[in-house]
Amino acid sequence: MKTILITGGAGFIGSAVVRQFIADTDCHIVNVDKLTYAGNLQSLASVSDNPRYRFEQVDICDAAEVARVFREHQPSAVMHLAAESHVDRSISGPADFIQTNIVGTYTLLEAAREYWRGLDAERKAAFRFHHISTDEVYGSLGENGFFTEETAYEPNSPYSASKASSDHLVRAWHHTYGLPVVTTNCSNNYGPYHFPEKLIPLVILNAVNGKSLPIYGKGDNIRDWLYVDDHARALRLVLERGEPGETYNIGGWNEKTNLEVVQSICAILDELHPQGAPHSQLITFVQDRPGHDRRYAIDATKIAQDLGWKPQETFESGLRKTVEWYLQNTDWVQNVTSGEYQNWVQKNYANR
Ligand code: NAD
Repeated sequence: MKTILITGGAGFIGSAVVRQFIADTDCHIVNVDKLTYAGNLQSLASVSDNPRYRFEQVDICDAAEVARVFREHQPSAVMHLAAESHVDRSISGPADFIQTNIVGTYTLLEAAREYWRGLDAERKAAFRFHHISTDEVYGSLGENGFFTEETAYEPNSPYSASKASSDHLVRAWHHTYGLPVVTTNCSNNYGPYHFPEKLIPLVILNAVNGKSLPIYGKGDNIRDWLYVDDHARALRLVLERGEPGETYNIGGWNEKTNLEVVQSICAILDELHPQGAPHSQLITFVQDRPGHDRRYAIDATKIAQDLGWKPQETFESGLRKTVEWYLQNTDWVQNVTSGEYQNWVQKNYANR
């Protein structure tokens, strides 16, 4: 019976990974999460009573606590998703990004290395440290081409620079100390339980509430979208079958401009939640984000060929599921959008 230590399991992607592990495997899961504004245990309500699920409210920067968690739970693998993840927040306040994404990853790597060194030969060989990262480390693409695992790193935001730093630390811990690591770099995720500061949930909820739908610049920035459960399946596959020392790009082959994404949401809402006038009338173009990367697109050939992964959802089917979920889960939305988040929105978006 395997025990997987998952950091950031109360976040958007982490909670999807935890729910999938509990539902589809017999693994034991230890969720290590500080519960920042982005972490929400309500996203784990369906697994919280399962005897194979444990929660540790721990900051990954706290070396003593992280070491205790390794000692007490004796994991067979780590999946590291805890991070500060919102680009806009990294622009207005980069300090937390440096602390959690860089210092936190370093702290976790050191605890993992110390623990791994003490394992017997069999458990040592089977151990994995899986670092979950983003395609934003590669910078911005022009009209053509894709990010591959060989693309040079050119991060442009404090967020992507902090994630690039963490990727380099993970790589170094493999090459220097032999820690069996795998790294994945994924494109933009969307789906249920996504914190409503991100484009897709923000637009769904604003549209339902008759509020304006803010789009940066002309709305022509391009992102490659992947449904979160497809990402979670890819992560489980890489953890199980990925080669130590290798990196794998994960993407949905779904390039869309931001404007296309918002228009698609409006069209689904016109059907599922009609409000008289078309929802697209709420679209407003706002001043662009500083240093906004133009285009991201992932070449996911390696994970497809080496591990046989392919996404199950199309953008259309995943987006419809997502809109339906937000329409049906207003309690979750109300809980995560109260308190600290509202204060932050007031401070940062008051003039938009
Ligand atoms: P999220 O912001 O929804 O969740 C992050 C989680 O980490 C939260 O539960 C938070 O409480 C926790 N956390 C933050 N700081 C912590 C600390 N110091 N100690 C312990 N826990 C802490 O993020 P997400 O969107 O689920 O992303 C998860 C990972 O995937 C991140 O590493 C992110 O860089 C990466 N990623 C995200 C996307 C995306 O589209 N969301 C795409 C590619 C990669």
